[in-house]
Amino acid sequence: EKMILNGEIRNRSEIKVEIEDRGYQFGDGVYEVIRIYNGKLFTSEMHLARLIESAKKINITIPYTIEEIEVKLKELIAENAITFGTVYMQFTRGVSPRNHAFPSTDVAPVYVAYTKEVPYSGVLKPGAKAITVEDIRWLRCDIKSLNLLGNILAKQKAAEAGCFEAIQHRCGTVTEGSSSNVSIVVNGELKTHPATNLILNGITRQVMIKICKDLGISYKEDDFTLEELLAAEEVIMTSTTAEITPITEIDGQAIGNGESGTVTRQLQQAFHAEIERQCGH
Ligand code: PMP
Repeated sequence: EKMILNGEIRNRSEIKVEIEDRGYQFGDGVYEVIRIYNGKLFTSEMHLARLIESAKKINITIPYTIEEIEVKLKELIAENAITFGTVYMQFTRGVSPRNHAFPSTDVAPVYVAYTKEVPYSGVLKPGAKAITVEDIRWLRCDIKSLNLLGNILAKQKAAEAGCFEAIQHRCGTVTEGSSSNVSIVVNGELKTHPATNLILNGITRQVMIKICKDLGISYKEDDFTLEELLAAEEVIMTSTTAEITPITEIDGQAIGNGESGTVTRQLQQAFHAEIERQCGH
């Protein structure tokens, strides 16, 4: 199996983690997950633009252009012969004796990327269960940071409750899932939290909004309460790995009639068409 280390394709067995890598010690870095369909990267420009933005927000300069990163990722996908899967990539602030303050600017970021096979059936995802939890994270959730403790603790609560996702809220206002964005449908209109510092502006969320525009589904980027969430006709979670997944039960209570709704199914179908358009044979 091949990986990318600092822009070079290498054997996984040759790659080691440095004890004083700031990613390892502080979670001091940023990451992305990009989906591969039919051996092709899906929405990679948007992911790589967000990666560079996230890095910039914490003063890490990525020493490659989007095009340079993309070329190498395509090489990696070909080397590992991935047809359906994901590529995970991260940049840390680099290796330096442990100290909270940044190292000097001559310390280079450490870049690692590797692939994973993930099956894709093209079948619309069935309903999943969720719980609600308090959002205990920091106030820069717009940064796709390696620091994921709040997200992990939320997801673990969901797992322990036999649920797929934990929907987080701040004082009763829904923000996002532990690893996804959350939207609701009320009177046929989609509502999703605006892209502020309190959520990650998901690429799947952005594709979904574009689909709403294209299909004439009315939508609003506006936050909503836990009460609105539980009373919604449909609840939708979006992420690179979950794509568009209906949430049909929250805290043990059915959403709508407990089945995937019509707007959700319309969005799922259009999303699959978009995959086909970008990554079809
Ligand atoms: N919010 C959080 C906290 C996430 O971890 C993710 C998944 N990376 C998302 C939203 C969805 O983002 P995307 O659609 O770009 O995968």
